[in-house]
Amino acid sequence: MKVVYHPRYLEVYASDPAAAPGRIESILIEVSPYFELVTPEPASIEDIKLTHTDWHISDVREMRHTYEVALLAAGGAIKAAELAVSGEPAFGLIRPPGHHASPNSCWGFCFFNNMAISVEKLRVKGKIKKAVILDFDLHFGDGTDNIFSGVADVVYHHPEDRERQGFVDGIARFLEKQKADIIAVSAGFDRGVEDWGGLLTTEDYQTIGKMVKGFSEKVCQGRRYGVLEGGYNHDVLGRNAKAFLDGMT
Ligand SMILES: [Zn+2]
Repeated sequence: MKVVYHPRYLEVYASDPAAAPGRIESILIEVSPYFELVTPEPASIEDIKLTHTDWHISDVREMRHTYEVALLAAGGAIKAAELAVSGEPAFGLIRPPGHHASPNSCWGFCFFNNMAISVEKLRVKGKIKKAVILDFDLHFGDGTDNIFSGVADVVYHHPEDRERQGFVDGIARFLEKQKADIIAVSAGFDRGVEDWGGLLTTEDYQTIGKMVKGFSEKVCQGRRYGVLEGGYNHDVLGRNAKAFLDGMT
């Protein structure tokens, strides 16, 4: 398991909770002693155009600082996807997050859809045909859903349940029915019991990571990766992300 990370993800490029100081640091402190860090390149404009319109790209470009870090975040997701497809599980410790970025608009602290860009790049290069995207963030990834609506080869799934056991069991039931060449996880930790959603424990994140690993080994030659989406309580974010990575490893 490798962790894709760039020092520029530490920069406070905006005033939203995803860009808050200390957020990336809280995960970095927990995971860097255990996982090798890999440095990504920024995504190219051609990469961003895989899922976004010229109009949207120029809109984001006007926020110069945000634009630069957002290109690096998309590049980080691409790096994680490329590692995964070559047989090395990976996690993109990236920001800004991406799952609320649609082809022509964005909201919710997102600018470019890191996950969708990374999956689409693997597809256009012919490295995969079918992908499953599991998004366990508290919030529905409307951007990812919009980008892949009508694309039969990419399944986007956002589990919902009021009970934590039901939530975890629901993921297992979903995965049992899937066939894919890769599994990609939009890993948002804002459903944590001490975060906004107040549901999942640290142990649950490890369990979900194990299920992703199990699925990938059974169905898609171990190809699996995740990218960071939400998660806002810095006191527990690192611990929960580490638990998920431990499960995925
Ligand atoms: Zn969220």
